Amino acid sequence: MQIKKLTAKIFNTIFPVKCVCCKTLSENAEGADILCEKCREALNREAAQNCKKCKNPPYLCICKWTEHTNGIIFPYFYSGNKIRRSIYAVKKANLYYINEFFAKGMYNSLRICDRIKMGVGAKIGINEFDYITNAPRRGESIRLYGYNQTAVIAKMISGYTNIAYIPLIKASKEYNTEQKNLSRQERALNVRDKFKLLKKIQKNSGILKGKNVLIIDDVITTGSTLAECARIIKEAGAKSVFALCAAAAFM
Ligand SMILES: [Zn+2]
Ligand SMILES: [Zn+2]
Repeated sequence: MQIKKLTAKIFNTIFPVKCVCCKTLSENAEGADILCEKCREALNREAAQNCKKCKNPPYLCICKWTEHTNGIIFPYFYSGNKIRRSIYAVKKANLYYINEFFAKGMYNSLRICDRIKMGVGAKIGINEFDYITNAPRRGESIRLYGYNQTAVIAKMISGYTNIAYIPLIKASKEYNTEQKNLSRQERALNVRDKFKLLKKIQKNSGILKGKNVLIIDDVITTGSTLAECARIIKEAGAKSVFALCAAAAFM
């Protein structure tokens, strides 16, 4: 048994796993479930329903395009309170099994989308990605929650796929307003010129030339954060930037 799984098992015996939505104790000793059966069904009903626009399930929805990216893949729509609570639980606590729940869902979407999903000008197979990276977080948010959940999930997916994880982008100190309560236009303005490549990537400028990059984020709403990241990564020479997110605002 993997050390991590064993640690999780011991941890869950001492601190039993509760459903993140209704707080029912999990019957699964492995602790792999973050949701009880009832809540999982509800989550699938609410968050995995077909897109109203393109009629596809979320992992095949082609409507969520954002500037500078080649394609966006996600297992769930951000719809209903089950998905909201689960995502919040991930943000709030760096618990292995909650991160794993989303990482696995995202990885499965990526596998299903392999060469299927329409990209803008490019279709790509999982094996063609050179790097996995994560969308930057506000410094304040990392301090508040004590960790960067997009980086944790990106590393897990790197483990499943064998695509190298590499931190690329950092948010500047001026990125200090939450996107949450802003309009589409305000969100785009709020992130403009607030991100930059890490110094060691800037110094090593050839590293992104002609590369295919997969960027991990939690919830995509208007896509302005991803668009800004993709713009920077492409300016540094990357051939394509695809995004893999936990959930996308419902269309
Ligand atoms: Zn429940
Ligand atoms: Zn759609």
